[in-house]
Amino acid sequence: TMKFGTKAIHAGQEPDPTTGAIMTPIYQTSTYVQAAPGQHKGYAYARGKNPTRVALEECLASLENAKHGLCFSSGMGAADAIIKLLVPGDEVIATDDLYGGSYRMFTKVFAKYGIVFHFVDMHDFDAIAQTINDKTKMIWVETPTNPMMKIIDIEAVVGIAKKHNLISVIDNTFASPYLQNPLDMGADIVMHSATKYLNGHSDVVMGALCTNHDGLYEQLAFIANSCGATPGPQDSFLVLRGLKTLHVRMDRHCSNGRAVAHFLKNHPKVGHIYWPGFEEHPNHAVAKKQMRDFGGMISFSLKTDSFEDASTLACNTKVFSLAESLGGVESLIGHPASMTHASIPKEERIKTGITDSLLRLSVGIEDESDLIEDLRQALDKIG
Ligand SMILES: *Cc1c(COP(=O)(O)O)cnc(C)c1O
Repeated sequence: TMKFGTKAIHAGQEPDPTTGAIMTPIYQTSTYVQAAPGQHKGYAYARGKNPTRVALEECLASLENAKHGLCFSSGMGAADAIIKLLVPGDEVIATDDLYGGSYRMFTKVFAKYGIVFHFVDMHDFDAIAQTINDKTKMIWVETPTNPMMKIIDIEAVVGIAKKHNLISVIDNTFASPYLQNPLDMGADIVMHSATKYLNGHSDVVMGALCTNHDGLYEQLAFIANSCGATPGPQDSFLVLRGLKTLHVRMDRHCSNGRAVAHFLKNHPKVGHIYWPGFEEHPNHAVAKKQMRDFGGMISFSLKTDSFEDASTLACNTKVFSLAESLGGVESLIGHPASMTHASIPKEERIKTGITDSLLRLSVGIEDESDLIEDLRQALDKIG
């Protein structure tokens, strides 16, 4: 079988049979002509299926070592389809520091439809087991977590899910399939915000999921077509193009991330630093076991823990742009307390480690020395 970089460039893609075009055409069509009523080549209407999207789905599935891939118009669209596998009364156990959008959808949308969500610290396997009852149907894991970079042991949690016959879902957005393949660890469904590392160029919003289960795939494809959160062919083309460099980009994200993490660790104004590559990270052993490298996401606080100092820093970086999102080629800096996690009450926010000065970096693939110099000069502007 082909290795990762070769699959990223070739899987699901053949030269166009009519012209030999090496790149997958953007099939900008809503419908397909039938030879006779009901007689078509598997393509009837583009909400259900589009050839550009199919090429992307096959490429993604191959990168996750999956039998099936499905793409959605956003990461939340993919998550929405997964929860729609459930019926009222069913219960879900989810990671306690979940992506804010997933938490919002679970608690503000699906709770209304009678689906019950429990948010549990997934380092505590007993707590997971104690939350399981007859109604529990799904375990939802996110690792690494945002923004605290906690690492959850996928194999262990999937083991609990299997024992109780629960569907296990892993949000693999932060790691990308280059660093972590949850299906190989026994998970049932892997989910992605393709907006982030998979596309990698900050110009598309898209979601995806992969699975090896034929039955789950059929249900999910039925939900995707019935509910309609499917992506268009132009965006599918862009993500397919983005995937071609995923392995090369991730290598640079990881090496830049490592360099930035070590620079921050030795800086006198930096307080705590959260990056799973450090041996003293509480989940370093698990990260080493289940990830191929540690990625380009880093959070850190300031010794002063002052909101103003964090703001000064974030406003003075020139290469790092102050913005939400992550996983693009360009470096971003974010302030969770006032941006992504502003809706969480201060007391709860601080309990989870999101202090006033916490900053989150999505380290891009620019030159390492420019990134470090940028952070150095911005840190100099404080106090
Ligand atoms: C961004 C993100 C999502 C949501 O994806 P969208 O493409 O923005 O809808 C879900 N999970 C994680 C971990 C994310 O970072």
